[in-house]
Amino acid sequence: MNLILLDPSDFVATDRVVLRDRRRAHVQQVHRAAVGDSLRVGLVGGRVGRGTVLALDDATLELAVSLHDDPPPPLALTLVLALPRPHSLRKVLQQATAMGVKRFVCFRCARVEPSFFTASAAQPPGIGEELRLGLEQARDTVLPAVEVHPQPFHRFLAEVWPTLPEGQVLIAHPGPGAVACPRAVAGPITLVVGPEGGFLPAEVARLAELGTSIDLGPRILRVETAVVALLARLA
Ligand code: SAH
Repeated sequence: MNLILLDPSDFVATDRVVLRDRRRAHVQQVHRAAVGDSLRVGLVGGRVGRGTVLALDDATLELAVSLHDDPPPPLALTLVLALPRPHSLRKVLQQATAMGVKRFVCFRCARVEPSFFTASAAQPPGIGEELRLGLEQARDTVLPAVEVHPQPFHRFLAEVWPTLPEGQVLIAHPGPGAVACPRAVAGPITLVVGPEGGFLPAEVARLAELGTSIDLGPRILRVETAVVALLARLA
């Protein structure tokens, strides 16, 4: 936790917070903080700054807070991904949030298990947990938007695709016809990542009408690894 993410409900005065949850335990057990120490803090959706420890015991952490800086700039990239298995989804959400993604658009295609949509990792509380861990890691405060669209692929393309921002569309799809993933691309970018089982040929054909296929070389990576490698190249 490189930043303690604060909610408006944590404030007991304009410049003072009291924390009693995992953040208190983390500050006590991992930071091993003491009264007088200064910790990085940020208000969800707001500015970042410092929190000075006023009190810390097994129940309560009290901080005097001063918020004076902007969070890091967002990545001008929308991540459109076939809903991965819960374990991968959690990793993708946390890591891509840490890398600055502010909009995730999850879709269904033929090789996405229907059960992935009912997993707790794909419901708002499970999603929110990973987003907060990603923000705390990267000293950011701005929660990304996460959309989960369970309709069939053709309906997703008709109903949701038009809501994506204008800009370059890159489809991560290793194999013939793909060009090497470009580096340091000026946004906005829409990056499409496929399911663990791959796209069907018909799905690839539809996507090829919408953007450019890119790859990272001959190694097939796990979704969570591919996402991080793609973002690092494109950012
Ligand atoms: N068996 C599948 C592999 C899917 S891997 C197939 O042959 O297509 C899951 C997703 O991760 C892919 O759809 C792609 O979006 C991304 N990915 C994995 N390895 C990649 C690579 N080397 N280059 C680009 N994208 C990759």
